[in-house]
Amino acid sequence: MSSINTRITQILSNDQHNATTAPLYQSTTFKQTEEQNNYDYTRSGNPTRTVLEDHLTKIVQAEQVYAVTSGMSCLDVVLKLLKSGDEVIAGEDLYGGSDRLLNLYKNHGIIELKNIDTTNFELIKSTISLKTKLILLESPTNPLLKIVDLPKISSYIRKNFPDCLIIFDNTMMSPILSNSLQYVDIQYESATKYLNGHHDIMAGIIEINKKSLVKDIYFIINSIGCGLAPFECWLLLRGLKTLSIRIEKQQSNTIKVIKFFKELGFKVNYPGSTPEQLKIHNSYNKGIGCVFSIETNSIKKSENFMNSLKLFSITVSFGSINSLVSMPCQMSHASIDPKVRELRKLPEDLIRFSIGIEDVDDLINDLRNSLLKNGLIKNINGNFVKTEYSKL
Ligand SMILES: *Cc1c(COP(=O)(O)O)cnc(C)c1O
Repeated sequence: MSSINTRITQILSNDQHNATTAPLYQSTTFKQTEEQNNYDYTRSGNPTRTVLEDHLTKIVQAEQVYAVTSGMSCLDVVLKLLKSGDEVIAGEDLYGGSDRLLNLYKNHGIIELKNIDTTNFELIKSTISLKTKLILLESPTNPLLKIVDLPKISSYIRKNFPDCLIIFDNTMMSPILSNSLQYVDIQYESATKYLNGHHDIMAGIIEINKKSLVKDIYFIINSIGCGLAPFECWLLLRGLKTLSIRIEKQQSNTIKVIKFFKELGFKVNYPGSTPEQLKIHNSYNKGIGCVFSIETNSIKKSENFMNSLKLFSITVSFGSINSLVSMPCQMSHASIDPKVRELRKLPEDLIRFSIGIEDVDDLINDLRNSLLKNGLIKNINGNFVKTEYSKL
């Protein structure tokens, strides 16, 4: 079989006129004729969505991939596999929106929820029980970029708790950099991020690795009506074509920008920033990705630094072709109670970067200028060094 980079380019559209790109079927209804017709109503199925889903199934080598309206919608669909009273274990350094949705289910009395540090394998072992019906893992965690030992957790759960669904949020690494699907029952990703990569659609994909779940997931998607709309499917097919080269360029830029911050003496969080973490990360990933975070010890200095940047837009989200910067505690993770953030050791001054495809020297110049302007570094005879100051 050809590599994922090649598979991404090979879209089979099965078009009656042999169009080389997939046609857009912007239609909600399909006439019922004498011959068998695969489509009747777009909530249940649409030819453009089928092309996308078949293409993604081939790219990631899943039993089946379904495309839905957002990353959150993926999690919502997965949680609807549960029954009242089922226990869920989830990470405590999760994407803020996932945390909010899990708590909605919990507060409505639908699930029992245990948030634990899922980077701690022993803690998972002592928490999981026969009551646990689903474990939700995300790695690298967001925004601290800590690593979950997915292969180890997966083999332990499959052996001892075969009824517990293993669900993995692979948004950060994308299928290009991760081999995670084999360790889980269902993996999902926000396609709003890398898969589409252009900041112009919301989408999510659900990658099913267990045949018995395919029908159930389809039933839920069709019941809710969260299947991805035709035009978004068409745009996602278009964005996907450049996924490999975008990630390759974004990642090589990221490595250079991280080196820049480390040489200045900043604390940088990135996947595998310690040798032990790196070993675990590399056991099922092929790179560090394109997101990292730094700490300045000062909320005010972080804000000023972020506001002085010219090439980075202050934006939530990540994975687009242009570089982004954010302060998670004020933006993507603001929905988490400040006390809980403190408990989870999420620094309020944390700055998260998502690196794009720009010329990396321009990015580094922009970062250096803003660090200088805001007194975070100083120029001593042409050498730039981090300014020391007490925590503000
Ligand atoms: C963005 C994101 C989501 C949610 O995806 P949407 O498409 O915004 O709904 C879920 N998990 C992670 C890790 C994300 O970054």
